[in-house]
Amino acid sequence: MKLILFGPPGAGKGTQGELISAALRIPTVSTGAMLRAAIKEGTELGKKAETVMASGALVPDELVVGILRDRLAQDDCKNGFILDGFPRTIPQAEALETLGISVDCVLSLEVSDETIVERMSGRRVCPSCGATYHVLYNPPKKQADRCDVCGEALAQRPDDNADVVRNRLAVYHRETEPLKAYYEQKGLLRTVQGQDKVEETSRLVREALGIGQ
Ligand code: ADP
Ligand code: ADP
Ligand code: ZN
Repeated sequence: MKLILFGPPGAGKGTQGELISAALRIPTVSTGAMLRAAIKEGTELGKKAETVMASGALVPDELVVGILRDRLAQDDCKNGFILDGFPRTIPQAEALETLGISVDCVLSLEVSDETIVERMSGRRVCPSCGATYHVLYNPPKKQADRCDVCGEALAQRPDDNADVVRNRLAVYHRETEPLKAYYEQKGLLRTVQGQDKVEETSRLVREALGIGQ
């Protein structure tokens, strides 16, 4: 299955992506995570992306398409993959088609702007493995403020502060949301309510994809 997980920043794409990835045994490919890794490594790409990401704007299409193309060419993607955070513009969606990649489904998580702001302010991430938590809705289970997977101290993403979140939402509505109509026209769009608790959203996601427990 080649799946696009679509939705505003903080909708729960990463959270639901982990679940689908485990159920279908296909990798999640997150352009945001790859860009953050490039920043950490101090590569040329990372240097170009860092200030753009800190402001909440989008990294130029050609840079993102380049890293995505290289990632999808790897072996573990040959039986399918879940795209989280890509495409974010119509030219990116067109680039995917130019690469000869046709997706089976675009699953859109529907979440209001007010809920997004609440989710982002409580989001915590593991700087080591990238696992995502929420101080109220999905706290770590083993030790307070530490990653369940690797024990690392959790951190807040620099672009999750309130001002940058507002900008990211504006960018989403202006540049990314038009993709819903784009994929609707192609008959690929399936919408799922993402407003409820994680477990309820997971149930709806499984139902929409026809996957079991
Ligand atoms: P979120 O999890 O909140 O949706 P991401 O981790 O997907 O955020 O993205 C973080 C930032 O990385 C974005 O605000 C943007 O600057 C950059 N980014 C990630 N994916 C893309 C993309 N497909 N096109 C352009 N910029 C991107
Ligand atoms: P995205 O990848 O779309 O940016 P995340 O999966 O990182 O979104 O989720 C954003 C924040 O909201 C995280 O802190 C996550 O733990 C939390 N979260 C995700 N889904 C839900 C939900 N259904 N209800 C409450 N909080 C959620
Ligand atoms: Zn971790």
